[in-house]
Amino acid sequence: MNANRVWAEIDLDALTHNLRVIRRHAGPGVRLMLVVKADAYGHGAVAVAHHAVRCGVTALGVGTSHEALELRAAGLRVPILVLGTILQEESAALLRHGVEIGIHASDRVAQLDRLGRRLRLKARVHLNVDTGMGRLGVLPGQAPRLLEAIQAAPCVELAGLMTHISSPRGGLAPGTNDQIEAFLEVLRCAERLGLQPESTHVANSATLFTGVRGPFDTVRPGISAYGILPAELPGAAELLPVMSLRSSVVFLKDLPVGAPVGYDSAWTAQRPTRIATLPIGYNDGLPWRLSGKGEALIRGHSAPILGRISMDYTTIDVTDIPGVKVGDAATFLGRDGDQCIPVEELARRAGTIPYEITCSIGKRVQRVPVGGGLTTPPLLSSDPGPLPLSH
Ligand SMILES: *Cc1c(COP(=O)(O)O)cnc(C)c1O
Repeated sequence: MNANRVWAEIDLDALTHNLRVIRRHAGPGVRLMLVVKADAYGHGAVAVAHHAVRCGVTALGVGTSHEALELRAAGLRVPILVLGTILQEESAALLRHGVEIGIHASDRVAQLDRLGRRLRLKARVHLNVDTGMGRLGVLPGQAPRLLEAIQAAPCVELAGLMTHISSPRGGLAPGTNDQIEAFLEVLRCAERLGLQPESTHVANSATLFTGVRGPFDTVRPGISAYGILPAELPGAAELLPVMSLRSSVVFLKDLPVGAPVGYDSAWTAQRPTRIATLPIGYNDGLPWRLSGKGEALIRGHSAPILGRISMDYTTIDVTDIPGVKVGDAATFLGRDGDQCIPVEELARRAGTIPYEITCSIGKRVQRVPVGGGLTTPPLLSSDPGPLPLSH
């Protein structure tokens, strides 16, 4: 019996494995900043971050100030960077908690400098250079002016220089190299000004797994740590999925031919059918678009989803699966024994990207970390990392 209605098992041993693969791709001596924004892509940021730090991850990247403060409150002491941008009202709390801030405007430099003087603290900032992402970040031509502003601000410290690569195909896309060239030009400019950022970082997962190296001392992967790559890239087979989304059967019913199931009677029984109802719905992150085309793993078999997925419930066909009982666990995403519903496959069927699937896992889904015992930190830079898994 499972006490939970719906839960996401978070396999910390798979996380360890993926981090070691990342370490091997990053190369010796390169530091790992693990991106844990959006609650670690839905996996649960606090447990993921604690485990990653125990593995040897030296910094964390988040999306919002709130996420950074939540990690501090949970006892994480490593450097934390708000990757995107902050709101001005959030700056004091960030300075007090030693959170690092991504920056791309000179008025923000001046504001942080004034605040730093008042609080007698230093603001540690990472200058974000827009080399082609076009979203946040200062254009390369304006970077020198910002670097000078940072240099002239006694309470603002240049902790890092960063840029973000836009192609999910990383180094396989021609534009990536142009982005890196533009970023290198900004690094040379910083050097001419006598500025020495403590770290320089470019690589997200796609960039890292397509072999892009540069003279950069830190990498910033997110999705690959969770066992997923953003596109069909070499290296996907080396990773292990971290999340498995499960729910337990709450009701079984035998339907006669012609009986409808779910909203809009989108499915009707063509044969006498045994259905199982499970308390998982689109509110829990099972995409509504999988209605009538998804499946669940139960008792070593695959059971098709019948009709519409509703907010709280989903029905599956268990007619051909012997012995299904109330309380049996069904897996809608991830691994069940030696079977697996890969998130990439689920995303393809639902017409979205894997990121959206794990990030949309709902609030009421309990995250249940499993495994994670460590004897020594596995990310020492002498660790060559695991060899590719044979598939
Ligand atoms: C999300 C994010 C990352 C991580 O990207 P992945 O594709 O998940 O590896 C790195 N850097 C920045 C600035 C990001 O916003």
